[in-house]
Amino acid sequence: MSNILVVGGAGYIGSHAVRELIKNNKNVVVADNLSTGFEKAINKNAKFYKGDIKDKNFLNALFKMEKIDAIIHFAAFSQVGESMLNPLKYYNNNVHGTEVLLKAMVENNIEFIIFSSTAAVYGEPETIPILETAPTNPTNCYGATKLAVENMLKWASIAYNIKFVSLRYFNACGADSSAEIGEAHSLETHLIPLILKAAINKKEYINIFGTDYNTKDGTAIRDYIHVTDLAQAHILAVEYLKNGGHSNIFNLGGGVGLSVREIIKAAQNITNCIIPVKEKPRRKGDPRILIASSEKAKRILNWNQQYSDIKTILSSAFKWHKLHPNGYS
Ligand code: UDP
Repeated sequence: MSNILVVGGAGYIGSHAVRELIKNNKNVVVADNLSTGFEKAINKNAKFYKGDIKDKNFLNALFKMEKIDAIIHFAAFSQVGESMLNPLKYYNNNVHGTEVLLKAMVENNIEFIIFSSTAAVYGEPETIPILETAPTNPTNCYGATKLAVENMLKWASIAYNIKFVSLRYFNACGADSSAEIGEAHSLETHLIPLILKAAINKKEYINIFGTDYNTKDGTAIRDYIHVTDLAQAHILAVEYLKNGGHSNIFNLGGGVGLSVREIIKAAQNITNCIIPVKEKPRRKGDPRILIASSEKAKRILNWNQQYSDIKTILSSAFKWHKLHPNGYS
């Protein structure tokens, strides 16, 4: 029986994708070096190999032991701020790591890969909502490394027997309804988990980075999409390639733009807590507004969102944070 290999399956989006794959009766193999992921996030029904995608011997040994017919690739560093301070770390892990993974795929005749990309490839958009055909001018190094991989996938798919789907996520958030897995990073930088940490008194206040943007309330606007909706898109993307679909790129967003202040207000309502705020200057590399058009994913992959209204997002994330105030530790 063939298997799906999830690299980075111990991370936030990866662990949710593994859970949905298993719910859909797929055989799942997880590979993760646990540098930012958590062993406790790995689904008990998946086979786990600890190792690094930059290590070709590790990959070749894995491909000898497991018959893999599709790879879902989440293994990357994903902090915008850190990527601006340490760009070479991001190029090494995100771009070189994927190069090694692709080489091993070619050598082991694995045809399909789903790549975890990002709205950060667009940079500051010229038009809203953003279509997949919009110009790609990343304003931060994290987005630049994801775009570099997308280009590498394009050329590799022309030269070798590889087909890819690149999924450009907008702002992933929320947690599985079981609250057994959720968003945990050893250094948390994302808005929603930080707000919820403030709600459960694990943080004194939330910083608002930038109150002088040209938006309705001066704060930046993002398109928040539930991680379970994202996870389901990966299953559809694998099916799409297996059914003969050609290499392709899809946005995955909710299509609704919410400002930082709107998210804080919604979180106060859901949690019934006062969340103190501090207004700070803009964070380097942050675009003013990102809202997706996901019409292409709806039309071609038959993708639909079930969980991405802000109430479901915040209440699922809040349940996770209340049950796991220290994440997985
Ligand atoms: N943000 C904020 N305070 C924080 C973390 C984030 O104001 O403590 C803002 C950030 O500047 C951006 C939005 O919230 O405009 C979403 O940031 P996040 O890091 O969650 O995701 P990103 O859009 O960077 O992928």
